[in-house]
Amino acid sequence: MTIIMADDGLSPTVCPYCALGCGFYIRKGEGGPGIEYMLDHPTNEGALCPKGNAALEVLGHPERLRFPLLKAGDGWRRISWEEALARLAGEIKETIRDYGPGALGFLGSAKCTNEENYLFQKMARLLGSKNVDCCARRCHSPTIPALNRAFGAACMTNPISDLANSGCIFAIGSNFAENHPLVARWALRAKDRGGFIIVADPRLTPTAWLADLHLQINLGTDVALLNGMMNVIIEEGLYNSKFVEERTVGFEELADKVRWYTPERAAEITGVSASSILRAARIYARSPASAILYSMGITQHSHGTDNVTACADLALICGHLGRSGAGLYPLRGQNNVQGACDMGVLADFYPGSVSVSDAEGIRRLEVAWGGASLPKGMGMTAEAMPVAAGDGDLRLLYVMGEDIVNSDSASSRGRRELANLDFLAVQDIFMTETAEIADLVLPAAAWAEKAGSYTSTERRVQWSPRAIDPPGEARSDLSTIIRLANLLGLNFDYSGPEEVLAEIGRVVKSYAGITRERAGARGGVIWPCPFLDHPGTPILHQDGFSAPEGRARIFAVDYQPPAEERSQDYPLLLTTGRVVIHYNAGSMTRRSLSLMRRAPELFVEVNPGDADQWGVVDGDLVEVETRRGEAWARARVTTRQERGVLFMPFHFPETNTLTSDVIDPVARIPEFKVAACRIGKMKGV
Ligand code: SF4
Repeated sequence: MTIIMADDGLSPTVCPYCALGCGFYIRKGEGGPGIEYMLDHPTNEGALCPKGNAALEVLGHPERLRFPLLKAGDGWRRISWEEALARLAGEIKETIRDYGPGALGFLGSAKCTNEENYLFQKMARLLGSKNVDCCARRCHSPTIPALNRAFGAACMTNPISDLANSGCIFAIGSNFAENHPLVARWALRAKDRGGFIIVADPRLTPTAWLADLHLQINLGTDVALLNGMMNVIIEEGLYNSKFVEERTVGFEELADKVRWYTPERAAEITGVSASSILRAARIYARSPASAILYSMGITQHSHGTDNVTACADLALICGHLGRSGAGLYPLRGQNNVQGACDMGVLADFYPGSVSVSDAEGIRRLEVAWGGASLPKGMGMTAEAMPVAAGDGDLRLLYVMGEDIVNSDSASSRGRRELANLDFLAVQDIFMTETAEIADLVLPAAAWAEKAGSYTSTERRVQWSPRAIDPPGEARSDLSTIIRLANLLGLNFDYSGPEEVLAEIGRVVKSYAGITRERAGARGGVIWPCPFLDHPGTPILHQDGFSAPEGRARIFAVDYQPPAEERSQDYPLLLTTGRVVIHYNAGSMTRRSLSLMRRAPELFVEVNPGDADQWGVVDGDLVEVETRRGEAWARARVTTRQERGVLFMPFHFPETNTLTSDVIDPVARIPEFKVAACRIGKMKGV
């Protein structure tokens, strides 16, 4: 491994795991590269969680993909890059000739840089395909329609460090102490200053341990809880009437709607006592500046868009927006999920949040991209692509840095459907489960082996220079896309990621003032940054909203139960989530030795009462079964889990064979968080 370093031997970089964008240095050392802490980074102040500390372990891993591979019978044949790209270009051209560009699918990656994602979707759309999407569909797609409707901007409103200024932090559906560990640093700082922490979560998580008030809510009842809190706030006159009157529309409809959700009715649905609902509502409303944090416990539901809407409503009626210590914090998942969305790697948006139905916005892009005619209207989402492959409507899928087989819900079905494609090309750093079923595998450089920018969940755009050579013939996704696009006649004449970032600045208004130099300075720039001398915008909505007339929209929603309920055959509910040691589908963390030593296998948490009832003992290998399949896991009998609900982390391939494929009708996200299930000793054990 060749190490490329600045004169001081230190290369600044951005953590490749969660969306917080923690910074650190890669240090040139005698035994290989090492980590040097970046003490002046504004988000992590030098600290890293276990995953960040282990990030370098994947770089020199013996299982890294080193050469292009073509499926040959049951095995693989090593081929040259020229042959690989010519084959992929030929398959794309044939698909367009035989079926039209609508038969092509493109899955981008929230792990790749802004520049790579930008060119990836540009290539797809210039070829005429609308079918562009990424893993954001499975984590925060409800955030986009809900917050666009509410505020006119679908993103986090305040920086992570500003949590230290909150009088009340209300985390709902977010186990941030495990999933975004450096958030806890700032939440605890708020607590040290007298702030109050409320956590609504069905599990007794490490985040709930640090709460002053834990609302142990029934699975999938978030809207009932939020409406119950808003009922109290409105009935007791605790809402911010000045803010509501001057800066919002829709309050009267909301007040009508939540009148039904008395604390007693909300208690009946949510399982949280009426007195706790009253207390949470009063503390959130009365604090001088309150922040709401949410994550996939809110979004991964068949009513995820309603859940996000209700969170926005609560912040709006209390006026807890547009100032320090307040705000709404959608905690995104992957390191560049915000950037991939900004770059338009979504079936419903072009770069810069231009809707696929916005004819004027698309016309501007057509001009910027040289006069090409671009497709309009909704494309296939990441969830729809495997279904379309099964139906024969999608013939070729090109996947960049995404393990769709493991991360999709009801994943056994998706694997069968993808097998129906004429051609599957996968570009990644490891032979993932998705790569294993591909026809062509292209080896990619990992984050530290290439240059480019990443946008963290707090809208912080940071440049990460290349520090290390990639293994074998692996190369950056950017260079692969450029070479492929040129073979397809698209004339992608880019000298490198700097030139692509400059084009992004011309196309995406909020990135207009962000250059490679500014993004490369410590902490980068927080968008919107509309011109070169602009300092960036850490706190949004200070003077108004981007929604029509500058007013935010309060939108009343009703509680809807989850799609699956307990039944005689499936008497329990299964929910899924993350643990601090692993990340997403686990393609990187399950190859990291130090992490695997600490969390080596799939487990299922079972309440002691359920364990007694179903004959399960702590440490047993058990079988968990849903309507879609069964999986084995090691039983952990624990009171962290409430009675009647099981918990499994989704970092192991088996978990998503169980999850539900019922989707939110607006955001098209599956209901990963609730599935009816049963548990028993594994047969034959
Ligand atoms: S909190 Fe997130 S960004 Fe920071 S070190 Fe951990 S995984 Fe990386």
